[in-house]
Amino acid sequence: MSFSSISHLVCPKCKSTYDDTIVNQLCICGSPLLVEYDLDSLKGKKKNEVINTKRHDLWRYHQLLPVRNPAHVVSLGEGLTPIIPMSNIGAKIGIPQLFMKDEGLVPTGSFKARGAAVGVSKAKELGIKQLAMPTNGNAGAAWSLYSARAGIDSYIIMPVDAPPITRKEVAVSGAHLYLVNGLISDAGKIVGELVKDQGFYDASTLKEPYRIEGKKTMGYELLEQFEDSIPDVILYPTGGGVGLIGIYKAIKEWQELGWIKGNKIPRLVAVQAEGCAPIVKAWQERKTESVFWENSETAAFGINVPKAIGDFLVLDALYQTDGCAIAVTEEDIKKVHRETAQIEGAFICPEGAATFAAAATLRENGWIKEGETVVCLNTGQGIKYPELVETDPPVLERGDSASKIAVSSVLK
Ligand SMILES: *Cc1c(COP(=O)(O)O)cnc(C)c1O
Ligand SMILES: [Zn+2]
Repeated sequence: MSFSSISHLVCPKCKSTYDDTIVNQLCICGSPLLVEYDLDSLKGKKKNEVINTKRHDLWRYHQLLPVRNPAHVVSLGEGLTPIIPMSNIGAKIGIPQLFMKDEGLVPTGSFKARGAAVGVSKAKELGIKQLAMPTNGNAGAAWSLYSARAGIDSYIIMPVDAPPITRKEVAVSGAHLYLVNGLISDAGKIVGELVKDQGFYDASTLKEPYRIEGKKTMGYELLEQFEDSIPDVILYPTGGGVGLIGIYKAIKEWQELGWIKGNKIPRLVAVQAEGCAPIVKAWQERKTESVFWENSETAAFGINVPKAIGDFLVLDALYQTDGCAIAVTEEDIKKVHRETAQIEGAFICPEGAATFAAAATLRENGWIKEGETVVCLNTGQGIKYPELVETDPPVLERGDSASKIAVSSVLK
């Protein structure tokens, strides 16, 4: 068997097909391209004959990933993140079977490493020497570090307001870092020009077809980890929506391979912030595309995307799985962010906190039913956003006595 069963690229809008062995970005019709595999050649095989179970990272799924030659794999050990029971929060919000898939544990501190690992590997396979991308921070951090490992020169443009730590991650990688006084959409316009003028590879969200393939491995892992007890609901903090599109693609592929028992499909939920909720608005209006969200704002920076190029794919995944889209308030994000650390010991990112806040609301209004199994994706490390936590601890002087410590009479 070859290393990858990749067959070609296809446009989900106009159905044009493209060759994956040469550089392709968007379809001529403007739509993102998706990777197709020769699933027929794998049909009849058992899951564990196709998955390389000796590998404890996302490359265990190499047969369903786009890199043709194993020599081109650029890896820092990304993937195979744990599923953690969140029983304390679960008890509080009435979802005893509440779990978190913790993507904070991948290299570079966010699940963007999955997309970067596969995207950069394929870029290397295609002979790319220079790439450019706009980012809200985490993607730039991941792509610049993986590019460094691959020997690819990267140009990264991010909003001045992006989490400062991601700026440092990009800087330490030796990438060409630029800040923009504006949003990711403004950074995107500048990258667009750079790509046009310099002939750089455009690594913007969904403008290259392979990032989604890396992110879809979250779906494979969920299916593998839950095995026969497929979750009822999966909540995903949605910006560009690549992760959600990817999880849906993963489910469809395994379904086609006959690897999902009872053919059960989880309901997918796109979680956004009230300050930037174009997908939620479109879903509420049963639209198939979203409208640019003016003056977007949220502390959950990874989901501050006013208009996603793959919005129609996100919405399709929601409709096809009987899922929904929901927006949460900044207050709730902050409250849940703190609470998750205080009652679960999990220091998660604000985007992840948004999914727990959304789960509480959906349980309250009955959309999540009693006894259902629910998974929230925590897409990054809490320690990437230190500025979200305000601290003002008392300072002791040398020689101070312990009588200065206010001992609580209430035990946890
Ligand atoms: C990028 C990002 C998201 C949103 O991911 P998409 O797949 O683009 O929707 C969510 N959380 C974090 C921490 C991110 O960095
Ligand atoms: Zn097309």
